[in-house]
Amino acid sequence: MNPTTLRDLRTTLAELRRYETRLTPGETTPQLLRELDQGLSLARRLVAAAGDLPVTGCRTHPDGPVDREAGGGCLLCNTRRRAAAATRPEDVPVEDVLTAIAEHGHEEAVRRYGPRPVARALATAGRHTTSNLPPEHR
Ligand SMILES: [Zn+2]
Repeated sequence: MNPTTLRDLRTTLAELRRYETRLTPGETTPQLLRELDQGLSLARRLVAAAGDLPVTGCRTHPDGPVDREAGGGCLLCNTRRRAAAATRPEDVPVEDVLTAIAEHGHEEAVRRYGPRPVARALATAGRHTTSNLPPEHR
């Protein structure tokens, strides 16, 4: 154990104890709670450092959950990135959506693909069926 880290942790915890008596309805202010939050964050980081615990390494979520499946990093940011990289409405082929509408109905297609791809598929299908002009004249 790093003696400097442990000393810093003891100091931080001692400072946090000062909040015990100040957290009364009359004395508790947003500013006081912000200070307390910063103190708690510092204590958490020091505990992680002292125990060599995994940290997110994220500026936005330094005390957030660690993405253990990915072998580290910020779970919140990694989840957001994975969701953004996952199938987007414009990635779903119009034919697949139209087939789902024809075979299973509008509601099931919306449940499967979401409202935007269904609306886009219907608009695309409508465009093709309402125009009798050859493609170069559309
Ligand atoms: Zn993050």
